[in-house]
Amino acid sequence: MKLILLGAPGSGKGSLAKKISADFAIPQISTGDLFRALAKKEDDFAKEVKAIMASGGLVPDEITCKMLKERIEQEDCKNGFILDGFPRTIAQAKALENITSIDSVILVELPFSVIIERLSSRRTCSSCGEIYSATDGKLENCKKCGGKIIQRDDDKPESIKHRLKVYEQSTSPLINFYSERLFKVSNDKSLEETYRPVKTFLKNLEEK
Ligand SMILES: [Zn+2]
Repeated sequence: MKLILLGAPGSGKGSLAKKISADFAIPQISTGDLFRALAKKEDDFAKEVKAIMASGGLVPDEITCKMLKERIEQEDCKNGFILDGFPRTIAQAKALENITSIDSVILVELPFSVIIERLSSRRTCSSCGEIYSATDGKLENCKKCGGKIIQRDDDKPESIKHRLKVYEQSTSPLINFYSERLFKVSNDKSLEETYRPVKTFLKNLEEK
């Protein structure tokens, strides 16, 4: 089962991906993981990519796809995989079609107003990175390390709105591109409730 998970930042798609990954024994693959793995390698290809990244340039889609191809050819992907955070553009989606065929795309939906509320209530320890919620009461210091609790600039409403706008602009074309293979699920309830229809859908997909 080769899947793509689409969803806005803060939509909860990461938690859903973990459940699918555990239940169907397929790995969750993000391009961030691919780049982190590459950073530890020293072959010519790794050196080439690291040079591009060090110069601050954008890594071309063909290179990302080459990394992805190597990853999905590994043993743990023999039953499939879940792509999280890739593709983000039509160009990437088309490049992906050249290396593998995606069975289904799961779109996790949540109203932007809810996402803004959720993310903007998030607080972070400035020293160890522990996440807290502003609704936990007014916490000034980290329970773990005593560090100062702050609201990251990324979690301020204006910044969240900007990220959501960028997401919407890049994702809408993808939704059209994958319309024949799209499964939509709303994440406005608990994770368990969100997961239930997804599981049923994937079980049916698996049997085909
Ligand atoms: Zn801390």
